Amino acid sequence: MSDVSVPNDVTLMEKVVNLSKRRGFVFPSAEIYGGFRSTYDYGPIGVQLLRNVKDAWWRSMVQMRDDVVGLDAAILSPPAIWEASGHLKNFTDPLVDCRQCRERFREDQLEDVTICPGCGGKDTFTEARNFNLMFKTHAGPVESDAAVAYLRPETAQGMFINFSNVLQSSRKKPPFGIAQIGKSFRNEITPGNFVFRTREFEQMELEFFVPPEEALQWYEYWCATRYQWYIDLGIPESKLRMRPHDADELSHYSSGTSDVEFLFPWGWGELEGIANRGDYDLTQHATHSGEKLDYFDQATNSRYVPHVIEPAAGATRTMMAFLLAAYDEEEVRGETRTVLRLHPRLAPYKVAVLPLSKKDDLMPMAREVLALLQPHLMCDFDETQAIGRRYRRQDELGTPFCVTIDFDSPEDQSVTIRERDTMEQVRVPVAELLAHLLPRLV
Ligand code: ATP
Repeated sequence: MSDVSVPNDVTLMEKVVNLSKRRGFVFPSAEIYGGFRSTYDYGPIGVQLLRNVKDAWWRSMVQMRDDVVGLDAAILSPPAIWEASGHLKNFTDPLVDCRQCRERFREDQLEDVTICPGCGGKDTFTEARNFNLMFKTHAGPVESDAAVAYLRPETAQGMFINFSNVLQSSRKKPPFGIAQIGKSFRNEITPGNFVFRTREFEQMELEFFVPPEEALQWYEYWCATRYQWYIDLGIPESKLRMRPHDADELSHYSSGTSDVEFLFPWGWGELEGIANRGDYDLTQHATHSGEKLDYFDQATNSRYVPHVIEPAAGATRTMMAFLLAAYDEEEVRGETRTVLRLHPRLAPYKVAVLPLSKKDDLMPMAREVLALLQPHLMCDFDETQAIGRRYRRQDELGTPFCVTIDFDSPEDQSVTIRERDTMEQVRVPVAELLAHLLPRLV
């Protein structure tokens, strides 16, 4: 066994996209109708991987802490929220049209604002105009102005508008946070790069409310904590960096923002932004709604508007980064083995149960082993094809362990465990199987 080569970055993207389709991670949406504008469906393996990314985030942000609680707010929302947040006015991208080829571009993404990347035309662009990225719809049967609703473009506002509800019901006090995972929608002008930028995507966001004088300290804490989360789940440090925004990139209310960036095949791209947002959000909603959104500190007998530190990550984009980082090829006995070296916590299946033969003598025991593991672990069960091909398939899914039931198994009540990364095999009594596997899968 030897490392051939880590696939070069131009083909890495194609390989991951192909693997995603072939093995059921991600399918182009509405494919039987010719596809639908950069939308994607998460297949049987992808839904599991995405869920594990979200669970890993929830585990570290909510389950393992006593100062963060969860929330699941509505996606449909009234204009008042977006008026207060500034999105109706400011959530825009500058849009230019090429008069020659009629293609549309984001002006801020053009390498040269005088050259059209579509047709090469010079000075063919229209004046830039601001295009609002929010999806607008109508709630109810009447398409009047009074019925206008928006699909949320971020999950964050759900936390701000529920600040008082959560404060009162959870009995938390600053510093404390509200976490949410869910879909967001942005009418992106130029979606692309697979699921990196889509119009419908999932976010994982925390709004952490702190006494104003502690804001800087918490901002630094969350920058370090969030960076480490990606490292702990297997992104190599060489592909991850923290990029503080320059002063001219900061929104007017933010006193500091840093992005966690991943080295995608086309260059560095944002996975998550951590922002020190001051009291902007709570103040805006308090002013617009007329409700008090502050905290009365009994210890000091004073009232203040908490400042907010916001780590805002993309679940779907992060899942893609984990896939790209995990993809590996190596040569084994003259053949190329493709393997996803996913962290066990992220792996879609933890164990594959593989009876060596479909014959009757092995199936009852294989089913028993499956029933033993299923309450604890997400398992695959595969009884067809040669065992070598079944191992290769599991390697491509990133399954950390295969458990094989062979012709000796019914006799000695033991099975063979094959490990994904080393391909080493050990024989283990069924009675010890769970004790062997569980500690290796957390
Ligand atoms: P970008 O600069 O890439 O458009 P952003 O700075 O507007 O992103 P935020 O508003 O900070 O993004 O959202 C937080 C996270 O949500 C991003 O870091 C990214 O992971 C994810 N995200 C934002 N827009 C999209 C999208 N269109 N498709 C997929 N994920 C997205």
